[in-house]
Amino acid sequence: MDNTIAAMIVSDPSHTIEESFTAMTDDDALRSMHTSWTTSLDSTRGVERRLSDQRLQNDQLRLIGSAVHISGEGIAILTPAAEAIGPRVAFVNDGFCALYGRTREEIIGQPVSIFGIVERQEAIVSALLDHVFENRPFDGEVTATRKDGSEFELDIHLVPVDDAGQLTHWVGFLRDTTDTRNQIVRLRHEAMYDGLTNLPNRSLLFETLGKAVAAAREANTTVALLLMDLDRFKEVNDTFGHQFGDLLLQQVAFRLRNQLRSIDTVARLGGDEFAIVIPAASDSTALARTARNILNALEQPFVIEQQVLEVGASIGIATFPAHGDDARTLLRRADVAMYAAKQAQLGYAFHRDDVDRHTADQLSLIVEIRSALEHNQFEPYFQPKIHMRSGLMTRAEVLLRWNHPQRGLVSPALFVPVAERTGFIRTITEWLLERTMSQLRTWHDAGAPVHVAVNVSAKSLLDQAFPAKIDALLNRWQMDPRFLKIEITESSIMADPSHALAIMSMLQSLGVRLSVDDFGTGYSSLVHLRELPIDEIKIDQSFVKGMTTSDADAAIVRTVIDLAHNLGKQVCAEGVEDADTWRMLDSMGCDLAQGYFMSAPKSAPELMQWLLDSSWGLNSKPKA
Ligand code: C2E
Ligand code: CA
Ligand code: CA
Repeated sequence: MDNTIAAMIVSDPSHTIEESFTAMTDDDALRSMHTSWTTSLDSTRGVERRLSDQRLQNDQLRLIGSAVHISGEGIAILTPAAEAIGPRVAFVNDGFCALYGRTREEIIGQPVSIFGIVERQEAIVSALLDHVFENRPFDGEVTATRKDGSEFELDIHLVPVDDAGQLTHWVGFLRDTTDTRNQIVRLRHEAMYDGLTNLPNRSLLFETLGKAVAAAREANTTVALLLMDLDRFKEVNDTFGHQFGDLLLQQVAFRLRNQLRSIDTVARLGGDEFAIVIPAASDSTALARTARNILNALEQPFVIEQQVLEVGASIGIATFPAHGDDARTLLRRADVAMYAAKQAQLGYAFHRDDVDRHTADQLSLIVEIRSALEHNQFEPYFQPKIHMRSGLMTRAEVLLRWNHPQRGLVSPALFVPVAERTGFIRTITEWLLERTMSQLRTWHDAGAPVHVAVNVSAKSLLDQAFPAKIDALLNRWQMDPRFLKIEITESSIMADPSHALAIMSMLQSLGVRLSVDDFGTGYSSLVHLRELPIDEIKIDQSFVKGMTTSDADAAIVRTVIDLAHNLGKQVCAEGVEDADTWRMLDSMGCDLAQGYFMSAPKSAPELMQWLLDSSWGLNSKPKA
């Protein structure tokens, strides 16, 4: 609103400045100040104009006058700069006095130094004077001092007012913006800093790293990015609770800060992940030393709520320009290096150019698999196994599906081996077994006594406690063990046959059924096959797919079926993709068939629908 006052004063040529102030003369101080100020003006001009429309003008001016007085903003009118010292204050409203905690007497007649702009901003003061001497409006955000010495943030807006091309005075609008600026500072802080540790967050890290890279490019130096992740944070959180975990993170942040120079940036990227930007990084030996120092600092026991605990960490290092020339690439490479360090338990590792894309991809999968369970990205799919004699679905195999937010459906053939290497497959298998049991329970309660087979990898087989876990699961879900089958690949049995035999025997004694998966690919001997407590052999799809065109494949399939039957085991053919294959298997006496010809793996609701719609579910043989 104050700019409109200025505009009115400036744009209405029908009255003079003198008149404006006459209209404001309720205030005696104002009037006397005015009289002295306007003596230099051509008085005859004023007299002439006072004769016309005086009443209307007076009304308008009175309004303007009171608006100026009640305005919360500081308003000042200054005489034009007559000497080197610049304009002097001729009038101020109450708002102006309140802003500075000064009386009108202390202000009137003073030069612009009365605005109290702090000394450290003398550049702004001279800019203001330059504007004034060149008759140009001035806008500035400054820090100013009150009479009592306290500082506040101030917006100054100075407008020259002229009459018929001659500068008559200046109007200044001053506003205390301390609250607004504090709020902006606070909002920016919240957006850029981690609330728990008060360290920069991911976005600020990204910004800082980008700037550091740009500066290093300019100055021909280097930047190092260290990415760090605690080794046992999840355990701590699970055991002692989140609040405890938060305290640990705060202490970690503190120790990290203490290990670094003030020009280095430590940020928290989220969870237990931290990043460190080291500008003008020296050679890799020095960086390795820094990494070691950080690790040493974190290896000292932490004391939290009388608990003493030890946590290690892994660090991945990528440098500009050697490993990447933008923030994004450096982050990705440091991430890959960090997981390489963690996997190999090296403590820290540099990015290596010879880590090929495949590995990088797998390593980034490792990162993501960890969060996939929490984010509910896994889903069990079920593929029917058809009993060939009856043409009915009596069993199903559970196959894991990962619904990745960016990659889409990720094949288990891709992520299961990765999860196996990190050991995370155990957690996934436990989750899947739980989900499978719940599904079995639902089907059985609905009157469909389906058998379900779960794939179990070699890692789980090495777990001595695995049979006990299965036993507990069956009890909890009140499930007859013979409805659960466990598929173990031939190759994982062959990796450690005596151990596998021990675990399989324990499972068998629980009443659980066992199946050898991918049979034909693992060179197991007949002797082993006879000794193993298995119920079913699954012929690998590579033989089944070729059997209608290759005599050799057909011979292998026939041999396996005969052999299995001689040993008293059932045979399931995998990868049945057409009617010809179905017919050939049927003529060979194969017991079960699984493949796209009948059905691809489906989600549980889709499978239910399929059972209702397809002939495989309706007790009728296929029209093969
Ligand atoms: P697998 O146990 O041999 O499972 C059969 C695979 O063949 C499945 O692939 C299935 O979708 C596919 N398949 C079924 N019928 C046909 C067909 O007619 N033609 C062709 N070309 N393929 C067919 P999927 O689901 O991608 O699984 C791949 C492998 O991942 C599985 O091979 C299994 O070794 C592993 N896997 C899947 N789920 C799990 C799990 O929960 N735990 C473990 N440890 N491994 C799993
Ligand atoms: Ca399988
Ligand atoms: Ca298989």
